Amino acid sequence: MRDFAAELENRKQAGLYRTRRLISGPQQPELVSDGVPLLSFCSNDYLGLASHPDIIRAATDAMPGTGLGGASSHLICGHHDAHHQLEARLAAFTGRSSALFFSTGYMANMGVISALAGRGDTIFSDRLNHASIIDGCILSRATVRRYPHADMSALAGMLASTGGHKLVVTDGVFSMDGDIAPLKELAVLCREHDALLVVDDAHGVGVVGPHGRGSVAELGLSEEDVPVLIGTLGKAIGTSGAFVAGPKLLTDYLVQKARTYIYTTAMPPAIALATCASLDLIEREDSRRSHLQSLVRDFRRGASALGYELMPSRTPIQPIMVGDNWSALALSQALEQQGLLVTAIRPPSVPDGEARLRVTFSAGHSTADLEKLLAALAECRTLVAGPDTEAV
Ligand SMILES: *Cc1c(COP(=O)(O)O)cnc(C)c1O
Repeated sequence: MRDFAAELENRKQAGLYRTRRLISGPQQPELVSDGVPLLSFCSNDYLGLASHPDIIRAATDAMPGTGLGGASSHLICGHHDAHHQLEARLAAFTGRSSALFFSTGYMANMGVISALAGRGDTIFSDRLNHASIIDGCILSRATVRRYPHADMSALAGMLASTGGHKLVVTDGVFSMDGDIAPLKELAVLCREHDALLVVDDAHGVGVVGPHGRGSVAELGLSEEDVPVLIGTLGKAIGTSGAFVAGPKLLTDYLVQKARTYIYTTAMPPAIALATCASLDLIEREDSRRSHLQSLVRDFRRGASALGYELMPSRTPIQPIMVGDNWSALALSQALEQQGLLVTAIRPPSVPDGEARLRVTFSAGHSTADLEKLLAALAECRTLVAGPDTEAV
């Protein structure tokens, strides 16, 4: 039998052991962690909607009429009119012909990629794509070719030298770096090489683009340009679940073929109605996004002035590059001693030697919160080598 205990010990020695932090109370910038209050800069609740009263009320108001449990898969008797209503709402929000509601983004990626590509086909996947995309590629049994991050000439060469059915898949906003994929160039390349383009905009939906319609909408890319658009609902949207949007033919096909859609219990209908309420709010109020943008701008200015190395990101994902695992942990722990929660992200979530603090912003943060973060970062500056100093 494998020596599981030794494997865990090796992880500890390498600074890679992970633990779960116990949170009580609602998700918001002011968290209570193991009884201690902390100001959090690591959630994906970018618009501060995870505990918004209107959205909570939409769920609780719905439940006497819908009940709580999903009870069955969509193809047996679980497809509730609340789910159907949300799908129409998501299609309108993304400007697509139709949408399909999945239980999680992880399942959406696994189901969509494995349904749309199979043995003998080739999938081209950005090297920094999310784990759920990587796993979807493996599940598909297609040949997988990873291209260097956002490198369009490398991808063009790979597409030109490959025959058969081709699928290109990318994050819209990259989850650990915060940069946005070259979507326009990807759409052109895919058209040239007759490849199907799949964009996972988990971190773009709600955050970028007109009225938060995402990174694909920001560039005005149509359903022909990006035929398969995936988004998640547990991040900026503040609820739970995910969707795939595109031509009616696509969603019809996925209902037949996507196993993670077919063989799982439908989400509680009340979650679908709460998500509709969240989308209404997001479309109505641009103020959250503009506040978020000013936090990001001021953070970048402040943290750069302190000599921290940032990534080329204009989204609420603002990593501070550190390098080695132990320094990332030390910086995270020093910030926690000052009452701030910013988690260290280590391999395999990021490449080896690229450990970082993944700072994320929420519209729920005040400018005073940002000042607290910058003051604490000033205190901790000596813990990491900056771009100007030799790494130790
Ligand atoms: C978070 C994330 C997912 C998974 O979504 P869940 O709904 O949390 O399962 C998928 N893709 C990307 C890029 C993500 O960041």
